[in-house]
Amino acid sequence: MPYVISDECISCGACEAECPVDAISAGDDKYVIDADTCIDCGSCAGVCPVGAPQAE
Ligand code: SF4
Ligand code: SF4
Repeated sequence: MPYVISDECISCGACEAECPVDAISAGDDKYVIDADTCIDCGSCAGVCPVGAPQAE
């Protein structure tokens, strides 16, 4: 299952650079993960200061 970014996201942008498949982009009020691109590696969760990316 792909990772999903929760409403805890503070839009710091740290996860975007860590994603090996460029699945993360800035959304309207938080960053978002493209479910079809995410390979479930968990790198985004490892760098997020607020634990927003979570495995579904
Ligand atoms: Fe990218 Fe990995 Fe996070 Fe999926 S789990 S969005 S592939 S960094
Ligand atoms: Fe949001 Fe966490 Fe990504 Fe920063 S690292 S943009 S807080 S999900």
